[in-house]
Amino acid sequence: MSEWVRRWQVDVRWRPGLPGDRLSARRVDSVAAVGRLVAWARAHPDVTAVKHRPVRELVGDPPATCRRGHPYDGGSATRSARGWLNCDCGGHLVLACRWGDCGDVQQDPPIGPDCAPRREAAPPPSG
Ligand SMILES: [Zn+2]
Ligand SMILES: [Zn+2]
Repeated sequence: MSEWVRRWQVDVRWRPGLPGDRLSARRVDSVAAVGRLVAWARAHPDVTAVKHRPVRELVGDPPATCRRGHPYDGGSATRSARGWLNCDCGGHLVLACRWGDCGDVQQDPPIGPDCAPRREAAPPPSG
């Protein structure tokens, strides 16, 4: 199973004319690490801008089998059908077992108590 973790991306823009990348991005794990990086960047004479934003990263591996134990990575006939649910948590991979008439469908990461998964917005009814 995978899970969403909250991290922060810090984008540092460097003064033009320096060798190498002028925009460097780093991802850090904590607010404290963001603070250290931002303080360092603001004190650096060659940094012209620094900004940070929260990001979500999916870590871990999706399940390899359905909840009845059928492997998802078999031949093309049994490979799982995959979909995606948008959700406030970041989203869920939807894995549908295609073994026989198993019909198992699971979400990765699992739907949590704060989740509000939704499919792509349906077009409004016409007329
Ligand atoms: Zn199955
Ligand atoms: Zn969710």
